[in-house]
Amino acid sequence: MSRLPRLTALGGSAENGRNCYLLETPSGSILLDCGVKRIVTPDHVGEYPLLNREIVAGIQAVFLSHAHEDHCAALPLLYALGYEGFVYGSPETIASAGQMIEKWMTFVRKQGGTLPYSSADASKVRYAALALGSSTLGGLRAMTGRSGHTVGSMWIALGWKEEGFQLFYSGDMCTCAASLAYDAPPECDAAVLNCAYAGQILNQDEQYDTLITFAKEAACSGSCLLLPVPPTGRGCDMLLRLIRHTGDDAQVFAAKSIITNTGKMMKNRKWLRDSLPEETILRRVRPLETHEDYKKACSCSGSILLVTDGMLTTEEGQLCLRLLSDSAQNRVLISGHAAPGTLGGNLLDAAWRSDNAIAMQVGKLIIKVHLDDRDAAAMQKHLHAHKTVFFHSPAENCESTSALYAQLGAEGICLKPGTSLPL
Ligand SMILES: [Zn+2]
Repeated sequence: MSRLPRLTALGGSAENGRNCYLLETPSGSILLDCGVKRIVTPDHVGEYPLLNREIVAGIQAVFLSHAHEDHCAALPLLYALGYEGFVYGSPETIASAGQMIEKWMTFVRKQGGTLPYSSADASKVRYAALALGSSTLGGLRAMTGRSGHTVGSMWIALGWKEEGFQLFYSGDMCTCAASLAYDAPPECDAAVLNCAYAGQILNQDEQYDTLITFAKEAACSGSCLLLPVPPTGRGCDMLLRLIRHTGDDAQVFAAKSIITNTGKMMKNRKWLRDSLPEETILRRVRPLETHEDYKKACSCSGSILLVTDGMLTTEEGQLCLRLLSDSAQNRVLISGHAAPGTLGGNLLDAAWRSDNAIAMQVGKLIIKVHLDDRDAAAMQKHLHAHKTVFFHSPAENCESTSALYAQLGAEGICLKPGTSLPL
């Protein structure tokens, strides 16, 4: 007897990282994302989705929502396990996925870890462009839309009967991004929904106000504000907000990659809100390229530095921290997820700061790039979803006893990796 259709979590729900879900239907099977979990322990670098040859043999198509490592860096594992099909995503996602996978491989090797796939497997990944709107994927009717998380990030709705859509997968989603546009999805019976901020309700405007206040304080007092950010997504949003809302006395420096990506983003109007200024506004930003540039920027009074990446795993970011950390006047703000064991994660630990003589002020300021409790509940209501699997948060934040469930109008499910849900 067929047990289909069903959804299996291979990673990513009840935890943060290695997002990977398998949808099996009578018409076809689709894998939704294939990412890694950034974990560093003495004997362990990274965790991967619970894939094996048998599972991989049944997959007709892979949908890639966007090119962040927790969604794409395990794609070569599929090819190591025998997959020969395509990975479908927007042209923008496809353009950056390879680089993100490379970056992950370099990180694992540098940490002395072992990869479950080879460079040859990474070069086997076959991408195919998937347009916004209606199409078919792996034998299923599909609809995609802009998810407001990065340039090129998409949600997907999938159907396997003639009438209606049966499953909605949000990928990473933000309905109130500063720069990026978001499209409302169609009604779906079930949903796999981002809840990266489970347990929280975040006010985006207040967060940006705080960022601007700290930037102005640094400009007035001659201290430095260090902002470790990813080179895309919130990194670009924060840069734009800072140059639009601080005066000429604030010297804004940014890693060249952030400026380049912001410029690219601003050219790519189809992914943006209509209200954004012209690209010429970026001329105010001073690019950081060489180690000398970084050193000069750190010695400059009243500077605001946007450096990569968000967890301070790059040499440049670490150099800035070393140069700025011994002054209590300076400040560093962690604005997203900082995995334990990374420098960004360590900075949030008071004992670690004390052991490492970090005198600078350390704060956490979440710039919203995901759904919080209120957004997730509103999305579930909008979708009319009867079953909603939450992902991108540890189990305690998305179980039935969590604050999130108190907001929900219908059933919420915390699907532990390795378990399935009949649809
Ligand atoms: Zn993401």
